[in-house]
Amino acid sequence: MRLTFWGAAQTVTGSMHMLELGGARVLMDCGLFQGRRAEADRINREFPVEPSSIDAVLLSHAHIDHSGLLPKLYADGFRGQIYSTRATLDLCAAMLADSARIQEKDVEWVNRRERRHGGDEIRPLYSKEDAQAVLERFVGVEYHESFSPLEGLQVEYRDAGHILGSATMTLGLREGGRTKTLGFTGDVGRAHRPILRDPEPMPDCDYLICESTYGGRVHEPAE
Ligand SMILES: [Zn+2]
Repeated sequence: MRLTFWGAAQTVTGSMHMLELGGARVLMDCGLFQGRRAEADRINREFPVEPSSIDAVLLSHAHIDHSGLLPKLYADGFRGQIYSTRATLDLCAAMLADSARIQEKDVEWVNRRERRHGGDEIRPLYSKEDAQAVLERFVGVEYHESFSPLEGLQVEYRDAGHILGSATMTLGLREGGRTKTLGFTGDVGRAHRPILRDPEPMPDCDYLICESTYGGRVHEPAE
């Protein structure tokens, strides 16, 4: 097993982690890096690995910093499946289309400025068509329903209590006759929120990838 952190490491955006297991590659989240244009462009335009070499994506939730590069992953050659809860799939249908519209509008604005100054025009990161097409790659799963995206890997989603459909995931990894458990929290919600259920505890893990954005802070009481 080998883990590589392509995003949301030393920063809080662009969540993307890669697990390699017996020659297969799985991405956990495929988020858009949101920040200043030049830096975001540099990070979002080129994937660190060939998208067609990714076998599957496990998506924790629909927020764009976790899902927003999926249409580009598809446009650049990914043809595996994306596993998410059904609510995340429904949210992605609206949010990725919206993200594509924002990319297109943003590029229009930049190109209008570039034309005035004789600069180079740029293309949108992805189109509405890419955002539509990538939905075909989604497989909706239920919380607590164990599934196997590929040989030697068993996955289970639990409620992360962060937004509608958000999930933590545990991955049972079988390698060389031994099974290890890897946990990935995605974004963790807070208890006692309206509408959302409380985050579910995760079972024991051998390894844990944990969101820690507010790790050093004590929240005000919700009331
Ligand atoms: Zn989030």
